Amino acid sequence: MQFLAELRAKYLKLTDGKYGMDKLNRDLFILWVILGFLNNFFRSRILSLVSLLFPLVAVLRMFSTAVYKRSNENRKYLEIKSKFTEFFKIRYRMFKDRKTHKYYKCKNCSAYFRVKRKPGEHYVDCPKCGKEIKVKIRAAKNAE
Ligand SMILES: [Zn+2]
Repeated sequence: MQFLAELRAKYLKLTDGKYGMDKLNRDLFILWVILGFLNNFFRSRILSLVSLLFPLVAVLRMFSTAVYKRSNENRKYLEIKSKFTEFFKIRYRMFKDRKTHKYYKCKNCSAYFRVKRKPGEHYVDCPKCGKEIKVKIRAAKNAE
């Protein structure tokens, strides 16, 4: 157990004051694995060199002592990522409900909301900002 205690002490000394792991680093490692897998098919030297940058950057970030800068990078990354995932989530929902609902974007607050596909003009309140919006739904071409 002496060995484990020494190993633990070394580990704590190594990581003391260092930034450590975050979601950006985790995703850099995941990207590295994905690129490595894809390169089984492409067999590109450039891609394999570029993919090495991902774990390199992640390890450098982990052992960085500029904790404030690294956590700012992570926060910005998460902001961009959430915009990106929101974009695809709303597209997926639009596709899933395409037969029963129509989606609109509020011109006031740019929130998305859906309206049942009932032909005609409707006035709906934006669920986020409450502004009244006029929507027009045409009768479906292949009405059942
Ligand atoms: Zn709104």
